[in-house]
Amino acid sequence: MDQDRSPPFRRFDDYRWEGVAHLPYKEDATTPFKSVTRQVLFHEPDMGCELRYFEVAPAGYSTLERHEHAHAVLILRGRGDCMVGTEIRHVETNDLVSIPPWAWHQFRATAGEPLGFLCMVNALRDKPRLPTEADRAAMRETPAVAAFLDRTERPA
Ligand code: MN
Repeated sequence: MDQDRSPPFRRFDDYRWEGVAHLPYKEDATTPFKSVTRQVLFHEPDMGCELRYFEVAPAGYSTLERHEHAHAVLILRGRGDCMVGTEIRHVETNDLVSIPPWAWHQFRATAGEPLGFLCMVNALRDKPRLPTEADRAAMRETPAVAAFLDRTERPA
């Protein structure tokens, strides 16, 4: 890909960065997510990784997905809940989350404030896979996961 390097300095202002496009999470309208934006902060031609900033609006959530590539996440703003595999944790600003290959994962913001996080990934990576009905049934065998999924799939 023909791509320029980032300038040496770029200013931060209200969770936007100078010269960085502020994009809807995914162009594909069929992908299930709610109120997520994406900013690619670093995508340098001479590095093998990218650093992105995602922000989930209050009560929003990211796509429930898995893939071969891993994620290294630092919560930068707000609080929420995060599922990695069969584990669900409350996460807050400055917490770290490691998502290994093929772990189902989803981020959810609390009702009162957005959840923003930095996410490092390989520049070359596979596409996310969405769960089949069989995958969902398998996930639901863990009660905490079922309760977590209910909050997305059967909102009150
Ligand atoms: Mn992912």
